[in-house]
Amino acid sequence: MTGNTNTRQEKASILLIYTGGTIGMIENPETGALESFNFQHLKDNMPELKKLGYAVSTYQFDPPTDSAEMGPEGWQKIVEIIAGNYHLYDGFVVLHGTDTMSYTASALSFMLENLSKPVIFTGSQLPIGVLRTDGKENLITAIEIAAAHENGLPVAPEVCIFFENTLLRGNRTRKINADNFNAFRSYNYPPLAHAGVTIKYDTTQIYYPELRKPLKTHLMLDRNIAILKLFPGISPQIIENILATPGLKGVVMETFGSGNAPRDEWFISMLREAVGRGLVIVNVTQCVGGSVEMLRYETGQKLMEAGVVSGYDSTTESAVTKLMFLFGQGLTPEEVKEHMNCSLIGEITIPDK
Ligand code: ASP
Repeated sequence: MTGNTNTRQEKASILLIYTGGTIGMIENPETGALESFNFQHLKDNMPELKKLGYAVSTYQFDPPTDSAEMGPEGWQKIVEIIAGNYHLYDGFVVLHGTDTMSYTASALSFMLENLSKPVIFTGSQLPIGVLRTDGKENLITAIEIAAAHENGLPVAPEVCIFFENTLLRGNRTRKINADNFNAFRSYNYPPLAHAGVTIKYDTTQIYYPELRKPLKTHLMLDRNIAILKLFPGISPQIIENILATPGLKGVVMETFGSGNAPRDEWFISMLREAVGRGLVIVNVTQCVGGSVEMLRYETGQKLMEAGVVSGYDSTTESAVTKLMFLFGQGLTPEEVKEHMNCSLIGEITIPDK
């Protein structure tokens, strides 16, 4: 671990964007029912925030959105809020439901080109208004991370998820538990920081951008993407129907192990035919960790011969949003394939040849 700190800059200014999710719920003292918390009165309800000494402003989605209902429009809205306030704040904290937080964080990492300020996502498994909430700690530490500066520069200028003591690169995360406080993991990239008594940053793992380039936002996303999860015995009709979906441009195919799939001729020829029509099929593994290596087994080589491209060690969340982003830029299938072969913002690791 390098670069310690709790690096505080007095009066750092933070914009807290509440999009929805469990974290924003509070128990109505009269009825006992869970209701949305009013973030306009955040400091009255969370006096702890005053002690941090930062200038925290809030923006609340109206109505708050359960993250199961988040998608490209919600992502665009968050990007527009960040871009519209970019010069006014040192950092941004996005409160978001945990269910699809990894998709939103992945999408934003592509949509906010040249980001040079922290965008820290957090949420909670228990509402902020209940006694045993994990929300308060997640929120307070996320604000500290968004405000952390060293030599006048932000310590973590990336789209990240902070949850249960760990700061992770957003486009490397997946939600792995529906109940535990420790709900997110990044299996293929190390944590960017651990929050214990102090917050210890691993600055060797954090991406530091070229500061002279201005923030550039990309709002266009193409929804014509599908996920095809293979399982032993999957029927040809299912695959045929998915690949024949009108308008479909990209498929994230979840394969076995290091990128393997059955070698059946009907399957390989369906893929070859779809690739021939301009579909981009990206191979990611169903395993939680590790990378696709299509040359390792014959079952992977067949996919390569059919024109399937490697997703390397990408999460499904990152591959889906990257395809939405690339096709949203109006790129041709060949150009999309080229970009799937590169790490745009640290979302994949390409092994040395
Ligand atoms: N269903 C909620 C959501 O994702 C769960 C949560 O906030 O953790 O919006």
